[in-house]
Amino acid sequence: MKVFYASVLLFVGSCATIRHSEKINNLKNSISFKDKTVVTSYLNTITSEELKTHVVEVSSDKYNGRKTGEEGHNLVCNYIRAQYKTDSISAPKSNPDYFQMVPKENLPDNLNDSQNVIAYIEGSIFPDEYVYITAHSDHEGIKNGEIYNGADDNGSGTAAVLEIAEAFIQATKDGHPPKRSIVFLHVTAEEVGLYGSRFYTEYPIFPLENAVATLNIDMIGRIDKRHNDNENYIYLIGSDRMSSELYYIAEQANTTFTDLHLDYKYNEDSDPNKYYYRSDHYNFALKDIPVIFFFNGEHEDYTKPTDTAEKINYPLLAKRTKLIFATAWYLANSDTRLKKEII
Ligand SMILES: [Zn+2]
Repeated sequence: MKVFYASVLLFVGSCATIRHSEKINNLKNSISFKDKTVVTSYLNTITSEELKTHVVEVSSDKYNGRKTGEEGHNLVCNYIRAQYKTDSISAPKSNPDYFQMVPKENLPDNLNDSQNVIAYIEGSIFPDEYVYITAHSDHEGIKNGEIYNGADDNGSGTAAVLEIAEAFIQATKDGHPPKRSIVFLHVTAEEVGLYGSRFYTEYPIFPLENAVATLNIDMIGRIDKRHNDNENYIYLIGSDRMSSELYYIAEQANTTFTDLHLDYKYNEDSDPNKYYYRSDHYNFALKDIPVIFFFNGEHEDYTKPTDTAEKINYPLLAKRTKLIFATAWYLANSDTRLKKEII
């Protein structure tokens, strides 16, 4: 009797496993880039030269380390806004100057008023569904007389968002507008505790229940010690936590276009670094929005005044930016909205 009972359980267990792997296979097979040639042509507008121009600019000494609320950070926000104006990418109707003010009352003590910078491209078929691409624009300022340039943290992410936006607006101008709206959000006050993204998620400009997913970029221009012998990688954090489909979309984007090693080491809940909780995507995850955090890991210049523009690996920054663009393209153009479901 005992043996018989055990074998019944075993049978039930293996059926469940088969059903599960079938579901996964069905999900994987459902994700493909039918418009691969079109995506490739806009992917190729993302160049290491243009990324370098933005990184060199935002991490230059004239912005004094971009401390939240200080003139240097305000000026860099002006620079970001100017790029959107030049590219004819719209401001939200409610915030026609591209700025969402973050009052000092919503920031830690002693900081001045600051702002998030927001631009968007309206979706052609599902304009009320929004894909977010985010990066923080602030850094550590000046300490002990030294400017913290923050080229990787987060000049790299800032440049990536600008280049992704430019690729999408070029596609739009050529008759390939995204089906869903895409929001380009440069948040302030990340370094002091994720305050800019928290403010946005408390006072959203577009309804958060219509947010499809948030792709957050924070440090993607360098290589960490674990990858000294293979720089062709990026860490993805959070992609499978709310939506199995999101995980496989990023995987498929990578297989189709970029062939990076997608490293999930820091996605493990047991990882002591807890990066999932440490950048702006987390405030979106708290609002039940699926997220991916794109990250290169820490390196010897992390949070030091030596995080400077000449140390960025620009071809690698371009490749990683292309992966994020392709992932965003799929999220914005798929026939059905991303499913919040874990298989
Ligand atoms: Zn950062």
